[in-house]
Amino acid sequence: MTIDTHAHLFIREFYGEGLWNGYTRLNASWRPATVTQEEAEEEVRNTVLPSWWEDRDGLEHVWRMDEAGIEKCILLYIDFGFLFPREGAPSVVEQNRYISEVVSKHPDRLIYFCGIDPRRDDAVDLFEKCFTEFGARGLKLYPSTGFLPADKEVYPLYERAAAWGLPVYFHMGPQSPPYKNEGNTHPSLLLRVLVDFPELTVVVAHLANEYWRDLLALGRVRENVYCDISAKQIVAKENFGQFCHILRRYLDEFGKERVLFGTDAPLLERAASSSEWVDIVRGLPQNAPEDCRFTEQEIADLMDGNASRLLATIPEASDLG
Ligand SMILES: [Zn+2]
Repeated sequence: MTIDTHAHLFIREFYGEGLWNGYTRLNASWRPATVTQEEAEEEVRNTVLPSWWEDRDGLEHVWRMDEAGIEKCILLYIDFGFLFPREGAPSVVEQNRYISEVVSKHPDRLIYFCGIDPRRDDAVDLFEKCFTEFGARGLKLYPSTGFLPADKEVYPLYERAAAWGLPVYFHMGPQSPPYKNEGNTHPSLLLRVLVDFPELTVVVAHLANEYWRDLLALGRVRENVYCDISAKQIVAKENFGQFCHILRRYLDEFGKERVLFGTDAPLLERAASSSEWVDIVRGLPQNAPEDCRFTEQEIADLMDGNASRLLATIPEASDLG
C-alpha cells in the first residue's frame, strides 16, 4: 500500500495570477535545452495549468493515484488569500468547503486537511467549522505568506489542533519573492511551538527544502515532528545518490518512524510523474548505492506504515462528542 500525505487540488478562481505565474515559471524550468524559458512558459500556460484547472472534481487526481498505485492521499488546501488574493474569489470558508466536498465523494481514497491563514480575524471559528462541519483531519499552514510560526496570533490554532488531536502541516524552506523570506520559514522557528505544545503533531513538508539539514536537527531533539519527502523527486532524478544519502540520514537521525511519502501532485508531474516517483522510492532496496542501503521494511514504513499510524491517531469530530 502507498499513502501520499501531500497533494493539492488547484481551483483556478481561488487564487490570484501571482500564484499561477510562479507555478508556470517553475514548471517551465524543467525543459529541454533546445527550448527557451519563454517558449516553455507558454506551453505550460496552454497545457499544464489548464489540465490542473479542469480537474475540479478530483477525478483526474484519483486516476493518477490509481496509475501510481496510491491507495490514499491527503489533499492539503492552502489559504493563499493574503499573498495571492483574487478579485471575486470565493471566501476562504467556501474554498475549504469546496475541497472538503470533493474529498467526501472519495471517502476511502482522499483525506481533507483545511487551510487557514492565522491572521484572519475569525481563524479559530473557521478552523472549528472546517473540523466539525467539513471533516478536516488536519490543518495546513504556510508561513512564507507572511507570518511567523511561533507568533502568538497562531497559538489559538495550535491550542485547538492539540485539543482535537489534529496534526498541523507546515510548508517550510526559503522561497523566491513574492513569498516572504523574512526569517519565517526556518525549521528552528518550529522548536518553540513543539516545546509549547508537546502533545501537538507537526509535519514539515519537503524536508524543509534547502533547510533540510536544520530540519534534521529538529527531528533529533523533538519527537512530535514528522516530515514528508514530497518534491524530492526532483533531487532523486537529478542526483539519485544525493537523494539516497539525504533519505538515509533522515531515517537514521530524524527518526525512521516519522518520515512520510508525498508527491505534491499535480505540481511536479511534468518533472516526474507520481507513478515514476513511487517506483523510484519502492525500488530503493534494490537500486540505492552500495554504501547507502534501505531495507524493504524501511521503505514499507515510509510508503504507508508511518502515515497509517499517524492517521489512526486522528479523531473525527464526531468521536469527540
Ligand atoms: Zn504542496
